[in-house]
Amino acid sequence: GTTYDVARIREDFPILRREVNGHPLVYLDNAASAQKPQVVIDTLDEYYREHNANVHRGLHTLSEEATTAYEEGREVSRRFINAGSLEEVIFVRGTTEGINLVAQSYGRTHLQRGDEVLITYMEHHSNIVPWQIVCEQTGATLKVCPIDEHGQLVWESFEALVGARTKIVAFAHISNALGTINPVRRMVEKAHEVGAVTVIDGAQAAPHLRIDVQALDCDFYTFSGHKMFAPTGVGVLYGKKHLLEAMPPWQGGGDMIKTVSFERTVYNALPYKFEAGTPIIAGVIGMAAAMRYLEEVGLDRIAAYEAELLEYGTRRLQEIPGLRLIGTASQKAGVLSFVMDVAHPHDIGTILSHEGVAVRTGHHCAQPLMDFFQVPATVRASLALYNDRDDLDALVRGLEKVRRLFA
Ligand code: PMP
Repeated sequence: GTTYDVARIREDFPILRREVNGHPLVYLDNAASAQKPQVVIDTLDEYYREHNANVHRGLHTLSEEATTAYEEGREVSRRFINAGSLEEVIFVRGTTEGINLVAQSYGRTHLQRGDEVLITYMEHHSNIVPWQIVCEQTGATLKVCPIDEHGQLVWESFEALVGARTKIVAFAHISNALGTINPVRRMVEKAHEVGAVTVIDGAQAAPHLRIDVQALDCDFYTFSGHKMFAPTGVGVLYGKKHLLEAMPPWQGGGDMIKTVSFERTVYNALPYKFEAGTPIIAGVIGMAAAMRYLEEVGLDRIAAYEAELLEYGTRRLQEIPGLRLIGTASQKAGVLSFVMDVAHPHDIGTILSHEGVAVRTGHHCAQPLMDFFQVPATVRASLALYNDRDDLDALVRGLEKVRRLFA
């Protein structure tokens, strides 16, 4: 049908039947890590019961089956982000490893003293620290684009900061702490005007909206499986082929080589050049199951449903006296970040947990952003495709209890 049947979706996620502290689980910590549908759990189970072996090596049947499933995972991933070729899809441990790979392989060889790397004020630490490290190593300078009080990029500042010295521009597609959706297409265009390469942190975008790396024209795009209903320990790094081809390997070892002698090693072709060691076989196979699941539900339908849910949650939270939403961008997805005048975020999180409501409290790996909003931490309720209005009503009831206890 055309309506979104959230009750039906919820049945796909066995953990949602759990009780926590005597209450039905209300899981609103999806931006930290999302729950797994039965199909992902079954896929992992079947892989380990029926097919488990190392890939690309053995000529035996199990190894061939594992290799086929692993490489099918690459095709599913390619399609999921609409990459032009399989050589552009590299499996990594997650977003953090994807960004570090680009910083150390591309950044380290291309940056020089006087060059600039541009990020934004709303980045996760994993899109700050790798750039600080490579700037330290190369003598390049890290620049930070400001945001406004709604948590939106200041476009005039961004335009002014992108200049002849800019070599790399790295930014989140969606902010994990605020939910802001950045104007990524325009940002890529602007960066390309000066010949800079772009690195998009898609950790928070993958579970919420359709990603099309060719339409974005970005140079690198990376995301984590565990935030999009796949296992932990696996993610994707997309890179344009001509850039990846010119980049040195990041890690050395098995699988990333063609031939090795003590005098000279010839590296393997893409994408294997960047996949040293036994790859993330089960993780990739599980992630492909999650991608297929998302495609079956439909990312456009998920985005539309979640937008409506976010609007409902925003309205309900705004009715609570003394509650301040942090992050009020006009383009948002998935995140309700807030503080309350009566209690510290950690106390709010503790009381909510007693009520079976899981949220994240803290700085969300975005300490500079907390400083900008002059708060030590926030409470963050973050949505996924299986959340419903009842979840948000339970959150609001919990917050009303906080007010009664602390007022
Ligand atoms: N960037 C953003 C925007 C994130 O939300 C996260 C995860 N919190 C990361 C990067 C890092 O992802 P991971 O820990 O899976 O490597």
